[in-house]
Amino acid sequence: MRDVSSDEELAAFLDARLDEAQRDAEAMEHDRDWDDDYRSCLAARIGTMADKGYAEADCNCGLAERKARALREVEAKRAILSRYERGTAGDLPEWKAGRELIEAGLAILLAVLRDLAAIDRDHPDYRPEWKP
Ligand SMILES: [Zn+2]
Repeated sequence: MRDVSSDEELAAFLDARLDEAQRDAEAMEHDRDWDDDYRSCLAARIGTMADKGYAEADCNCGLAERKARALREVEAKRAILSRYERGTAGDLPEWKAGRELIEAGLAILLAVLRDLAAIDRDHPDYRPEWKP
């Protein structure tokens, strides 16, 4: 028998990890070396190099790409989680299938959520019964 509350807690666990991942991604900054400004990213220099007017576009550290990719990853995982939650709420009109097929689809999505949650299996809130 399916443990609905455990599944809901799994979804809540994933949602919380995604909130953290989004905050981490949004907080990504250019590297700054306070002891040696020349070792800082061009966009993060504060000493004499800052006078040269380096901006975000001058920095070749790849921060913008890494940040954008991290945010897209959060977005993709949220889409998977949302699809599962909409499915359990009976709100997946795009799934034109009978109840039995929808249940099978939801079971597959739940397995995917467990795979995703396992990424954070060292988190104190992770529960062993969610192990894929
Ligand atoms: Zn940089």
